[in-house]
Amino acid sequence: MRQRIIAALGIAGLAATGLVACGDDSGSGSGSSGGEKVTIGIKYDQPGIGLKEGSKYTGMDVDVATYVAKELGYDEKNITFKEAPSAQRETLLANGQVKMIFASYSITDARKEKVSFAGPYLTAGQDLLVKSDSDISGPDGLNGKKLCSVTGSTSAQKVKDKFAKTVQLQEYDTYSKCVEALGAGAIDALTTDNTILAGYASQEANKGKFKVVGQTFSTERYGVGLKKGDTATCTKVNDALKKMVDSGEWQKAFDKNLGPSGLKLDAATNPPKTFDACA
Ligand code: GLU
Repeated sequence: MRQRIIAALGIAGLAATGLVACGDDSGSGSGSSGGEKVTIGIKYDQPGIGLKEGSKYTGMDVDVATYVAKELGYDEKNITFKEAPSAQRETLLANGQVKMIFASYSITDARKEKVSFAGPYLTAGQDLLVKSDSDISGPDGLNGKKLCSVTGSTSAQKVKDKFAKTVQLQEYDTYSKCVEALGAGAIDALTTDNTILAGYASQEANKGKFKVVGQTFSTERYGVGLKKGDTATCTKVNDALKKMVDSGEWQKAFDKNLGPSGLKLDAATNPPKTFDACA
């Protein structure tokens, strides 16, 4: 009796500390009562791309993620979205906290050392967001200026590689913090993908305040982040992306999410015509 109580207490203790697996925390889930569950990483503060407002999720990444998840057998109601800030994406995948990431996540060789990518599903370019009355007209005009970007992003890395000597880089963990600082006059410009910048510029609260400079200086191919070596999922995701493009659903999602900002992307690469080999 005494032993049983101790055993019971032991299990309760383990459960409380999360050591007893009550569900699958690999992000892939295995819901026994109908329908597999899946956890997907997205951005929470990038209008037009990935935005959380209360319990509502919107944006191109959200729509592509929902379409792909459905093709993989996960109903929309079985998707749990989790915030995936730029600097945490590789870790979230490696730890199995999410199964897939759709979060303006550029495919790069450095990242491919740690994660696998399906896609690309969108191709953007790095640009600058400045105040409407700013005279900054491109990356060459950044000498001596304060420039904001996000830790762990390709955008911040490019500034470090290309402009580090002449520019003061301020790094935050999210782009919305940079937008706030830009509005307050604490920084001169924000740099990241034109898709993200266009979303901020066209937000109701920001109308007339900012402009996207329009001189892109990189190619950002958005991939679906997967655990390193998960080629089985990668192949399925690429098939789903192809179907989304061929059926016209990709264009619909683009028009809905990024159309209102007036953003024009390179027609040679958008929508995607080919997908990278899974590795
Ligand atoms: N696409 C770039 C990247 O993956 C910038 C956007 C972001 O930080 O999510 O780093």
